[in-house]
Amino acid sequence: MKIHVMTLFPEMFSGPLDSSIVKRAREDEKLSIDYYQIRDYSTNKHQKVDDYPYGGGSGMVMTPQPIMDAYRDIVKNTEKKPRTIYLSPKGKMFSQEMAMELSKEEELIFLCGHYEGVDQRVIDGIVTDEISIGDYVLTGGELPAMVMIDAISRMIPGVLSSPEAYEEESIHSGLLEYPQYTRPPSFEGKEVPKILLSGDHEKIRKWRRKEALIITRNRRPDLFQKIDLTKEDYKLLKS
Ligand code: SAM
Repeated sequence: MKIHVMTLFPEMFSGPLDSSIVKRAREDEKLSIDYYQIRDYSTNKHQKVDDYPYGGGSGMVMTPQPIMDAYRDIVKNTEKKPRTIYLSPKGKMFSQEMAMELSKEEELIFLCGHYEGVDQRVIDGIVTDEISIGDYVLTGGELPAMVMIDAISRMIPGVLSSPEAYEEESIHSGLLEYPQYTRPPSFEGKEVPKILLSGDHEKIRKWRRKEALIITRNRRPDLFQKIDLTKEDYKLLKS
């Protein structure tokens, strides 16, 4: 997958996207990420990229010219126009399902807003998906873009060792994940549940399923409601 990021702060991306799984995916050429400094495309003699909002109000709005020129530069050699995501608190809420769907694209463009956001004509002209990462307002679209790129790259075939690596994870499986433990078996007086040391795979499976059901019921009743509970699930919840 090829990812293009239009941003005023490309330096923010080094670190999160140069480490761990995303780094490996880039090294293995399963993913490439290119950054486009929007300011470099400004034809204003002071390289201005923002201006006052028409109609008044506080803050500044990103002007259309530099963004549109950066966009044209990105798509100049592409046959099919890639999906173009504008990170915005007004967007559709990002989800695991969306990450899965977007991971099937060959190319994606991310537009990171700043200040009070971007001129609506940019959104109307090039944006295919306006996406929010949560009901809170951040300073810019850079962190949301990084969150999305991380979640999407994990779903690209071959990036994780096997699909099972994410299929059992919270949300993806429809449930929140059961508690995880590792060595040592006893730590500061707290013991790992005995069943996990038993080697009895069937009992461990049932224990994990029960824990996942209970955590989901307590913390995310909205998710719990969507689960088709099996006879075994009812039994586990009663036990
Ligand atoms: N004035 C905008 C509003 O009320 O909708 C908020 C602008 S915000 C300060 C600046 C930029 O940060 C936005 O253009 C967007 O790119 C990004 N941003 C802020 N919160 C976000 C969120 N929850 N999800 C995605 N992007 C967000």
